[in-house]
Amino acid sequence: MPKIGIIGGSGVYGVFNPKESVKVHTPYGLPSGNVEIGEINGVEVAFIPRHGKGHYIPPHKVNYRANIFALHSLGVERVIGISAVGSLREDYRPGDIVITDQYIDFTKKREYTFYDGPKVVHISMADPFCPELRNVFIETTRALGYPMHDRGTYVCIEGPRFSTRAESRMFRQFADIIGMTLVPEVQLARELEMCYVNISTITDYDVWAEKPVTTEEVMRVMKENEEKVKRILEKGVPMIPKERHCGCKDALKGAEI
Ligand SMILES: [Zn+2]
Repeated sequence: MPKIGIIGGSGVYGVFNPKESVKVHTPYGLPSGNVEIGEINGVEVAFIPRHGKGHYIPPHKVNYRANIFALHSLGVERVIGISAVGSLREDYRPGDIVITDQYIDFTKKREYTFYDGPKVVHISMADPFCPELRNVFIETTRALGYPMHDRGTYVCIEGPRFSTRAESRMFRQFADIIGMTLVPEVQLARELEMCYVNISTITDYDVWAEKPVTTEEVMRVMKENEEKVKRILEKGVPMIPKERHCGCKDALKGAEI
């Protein structure tokens, strides 16, 4: 049974050979695709392509509850979420990696919780990410010599459109990177007492920068980022401690009413 789950783009396929492909039915519907089970460097992992195999599900239509529930039902305790983001700061450059430590939710109409009643639960999101997993991936990315930020606030927007310049300038006041998929994935994982870490890769500057970027340039950076993510997973996954020493496994203690 895999204890580690990965949700990300199809680039992740390149780092492991799926040995098994499982169709998981959940009370919330089907996940974005079959859960692929394989090994990264000798460690068993489960993988879900967030946008479906072939990338056909937009961020606002991803069934986040089914994805997290499916991983949980297979025995996954730790989730690694990979995402591509835009930068809101000059010094967070395209090609850099961010191990996010905070987020702000600007999404509008998603399914945010497993607890729609009669059970009422208010989990703490003060520190949204697993400290143990964050450490592993900060160390790993550093050891590989990739430009990395060990902190970063991710503002999650609804999409699928990008921001206006005015929105982008506003988001810059309180966030470092911008994307469309972190919420509600991270909070759903916590509701099931799973650890969650976000590895964000910066593809370009958001529109505040008013820098003309070519699609070619963005594609090149994305390809390079994909390679970096593979190396980070290859090196980082075996470093994840077998036993959990973080507070994530007790997230529901005191959260239920
Ligand atoms: Zn944890």
